[in-house]
Amino acid sequence: MTGLLAGQKALVTGASSGIGRACALAMARAGAAVAVNYNSSAENAERVAAEIAADGGEALTVRADVSDEGAVDAMFAKAVDSLGTVDIVVANAGIQSDSGIVEMTLEQWQRVLAVNLQGQFLCARAAVREFRRRGMRPGCKALGKILCMSSVHEVIPWARRVNYAASKGGIMLMMKSLAQEVAPERIRVVGIAPGAIRTSINESVWKDEAARHALLQLIPYGRLGEPDDIAKAAVWLASDEADYVTGTTLYVDGGMTLYPAFRDNG
Ligand code: NAD
Repeated sequence: MTGLLAGQKALVTGASSGIGRACALAMARAGAAVAVNYNSSAENAERVAAEIAADGGEALTVRADVSDEGAVDAMFAKAVDSLGTVDIVVANAGIQSDSGIVEMTLEQWQRVLAVNLQGQFLCARAAVREFRRRGMRPGCKALGKILCMSSVHEVIPWARRVNYAASKGGIMLMMKSLAQEVAPERIRVVGIAPGAIRTSINESVWKDEAARHALLQLIPYGRLGEPDDIAKAAVWLASDEADYVTGTTLYVDGGMTLYPAFRDNG
């Protein structure tokens, strides 16, 4: 396989649907062998792996709940066993569980933080351990790359979703702190902040005419994002073309973070 990620080994969490699925497929098209992580939907993950194989690529599926320390370590062990190593981790798995503050249960708060933030910590830690164990690979500029799937809500407050916004704000500073820690070893850690991307996580919004219209008012570029918009950015960020990019977030949001309400009224 030739391409921006030729010879690379990637592990993508939450890759059986949405943005993770698109990242897995795009990285495979760019030449990477891909470990497709899923938590519950084995069938969908197998479908992603089959699509990659049908396209001439290499993929395996690996089950793990990213909030579970033992499961994450076992997932990395399986990926390394099958692929030889891991060069790229896309820490993408994430959930929402929305409620007003008074109704939000401790379980709702803890579960969102456990999957979205703790899950990324566990995957990043396992990735750094593997990068150090394996050492520099010939032909690679970096020892390894970690992409943290964040959100525009790492900076935009979001009422009735304090758990989700807190998890994404946490991802931003975890990503920056880790990037600072491991940059001398040539490990790059980067955030991706999608705006409103058409996936199952926000299906209730884009399937409803009035809600979709209201959402579009928040997007200066005038359209919803597609999973491929994020996947293309992820491929570039994971490649040596982005070798000098670390400790920053790339917003892929059609301008959602430009405070569009101020355009005619500031
Ligand atoms: P999605 O629901 O299709 O994808 C989330 C994936 O994570 C699913 O495949 C799900 O099975 C998996 N997952 C959930 N809990 C898991 C766990 N404990 N262990 C392993 N996997 C688990 O939605 P998506 O939009 O593709 O979301 C992907 C990421 O993008 C999330 O982190 C989300 O916060 C982020 N994001 C999405 C949008 C958007 O508009 N769609 C915007 C900003 C950020």
